[in-house]
Amino acid sequence: MPDKYGKSYDWEEEVECAECGGDGQYEVCKPVIDYTHGGYYDNDMEECETCGGSGVVYQEIEEE
Ligand SMILES: [Zn+2]
Repeated sequence: MPDKYGKSYDWEEEVECAECGGDGQYEVCKPVIDYTHGGYYDNDMEECETCGGSGVVYQEIEEE
């Protein structure tokens, strides 16, 4: 690794997060217990844990 240049980021590539498709968040169905109506599913936007909401992840470039 190129420590002498202090550019370790050269070995990482910014790629679109495969988990959320680059949106940084995704829709989730949360079951809500409602004793009056018997419960339902509520749509909610959840921040993607894989990319932390940025939509991109850093992948190490592997040199062959
Ligand atoms: Zn993501």
